[in-house]
Amino acid sequence: MIKKVPKIAGVSYDWMLKRAYSMVPDKMKTPTDRAILPELKILPERSRVIIMNWKEITERIPQIDEKLIARFIAKRLGTVATPTGGKLFIQGNFPRSRIRRVLELFMKTYVICDICGRPDCVIERQKGKWVKKCLACGAWKIVEKI
Ligand SMILES: [Zn+2]
Repeated sequence: MIKKVPKIAGVSYDWMLKRAYSMVPDKMKTPTDRAILPELKILPERSRVIIMNWKEITERIPQIDEKLIARFIAKRLGTVATPTGGKLFIQGNFPRSRIRRVLELFMKTYVICDICGRPDCVIERQKGKWVKKCLACGAWKIVEKI
């Protein structure tokens, strides 16, 4: 049996919920990694994959060293990845979707703040530990080393 939610001051709870949600900035509703990461331009070759717009990707997260992102990708894919001249050369054949997922994981783990959702985190090394720190709201947490 479905009970009707009582109205508060003539306004239904449902309506209030919808209204409250509509006031939340879009940025906070959905993960922002999709908005930050551009479409990957991939050039597959016989024994390697080249991310042609690597520069475009790294420029969107200027606070993070591109070598760190490359190392993360390499580690996750179990291969070697070298950033050179605005491109990333990945040894082996990997589909675009897989590379994309790895990049999204990087964003979620090291760039996007768990508290405010902004892509403004930096990685600091403190007493041998890696700390992800948000420049926007100050939140921080210990993250896995790459
Ligand atoms: Zn934050």
